[in-house]
Amino acid sequence: MSRRKGFAVLLCTLAFSAALFTAVAQEHAHWTYEGEEGPSHWGELEAEFALCSTGTTQSPIDIELNVGVNIDDIAFDYAGSALNILNNGHTIQVNYDAGSSITYGDVKYDLVQFHFHTPSEHTVAHEAAPMEVHFVHRSESGALAVVGVMLTEGETANAAYAAVFDHLPAEESEATTMDAQVTALDMLPETRTFFTYAGSLTTPPCSEGVRWLLLDTPVQLSAEQIEAFKAIFELNARPVQPQNARDVIHDTGSGS
Ligand SMILES: [Zn+2]
Repeated sequence: MSRRKGFAVLLCTLAFSAALFTAVAQEHAHWTYEGEEGPSHWGELEAEFALCSTGTTQSPIDIELNVGVNIDDIAFDYAGSALNILNNGHTIQVNYDAGSSITYGDVKYDLVQFHFHTPSEHTVAHEAAPMEVHFVHRSESGALAVVGVMLTEGETANAAYAAVFDHLPAEESEATTMDAQVTALDMLPETRTFFTYAGSLTTPPCSEGVRWLLLDTPVQLSAEQIEAFKAIFELNARPVQPQNARDVIHDTGSGS
């Protein structure tokens, strides 16, 4: 390989990592949630998106309610973060300050960012929630683990989400650090039993090898909070994908 070609490959790899890392795909083909650049066409938009159509362990999926088992907990070691918020054209994302992580299956994954979808991408027994939040984590070796939480409508505004929902950037933007704090731990339900399966990014390039940890207890937002997001993104959820030969394990923490 020539030095020049080697450098180009390195740049490509860096660009790909950056895209994975931030879910911003500015280097890539334009894609959308509806129409000719919508989910059923993502795999054709460019070579790097091929897995979106050829992958066999894609996300999201429908989760069947089934018999639970008791497996290892997710150990959350979350600190607070400044509110570094952006609209990447596909969602609202908060880049999380360094120093927060989860440990699951003896692997430590650092919390990198969280972002939102409406309606929820995963469905449970074919039912979607109004929204879903994804906490994206990355291990030292580059493996991804995403903690998903279903967001449903309740009576009152959720204070843990207020800083985010009070600062939603309506237009596509670079990350901006606001004079506000977020505490990811407070954004989770108190009960943290979960479904887990091996899946993918739900946006192009749909890379596989993502460990999904979908908490089975929803968190409530007010109708106004949900509407504030929907006013910017009416629909930004990939449809459910075939489960194929994958197992979905339901940790119910029952000790059985
Ligand atoms: Zn997501």
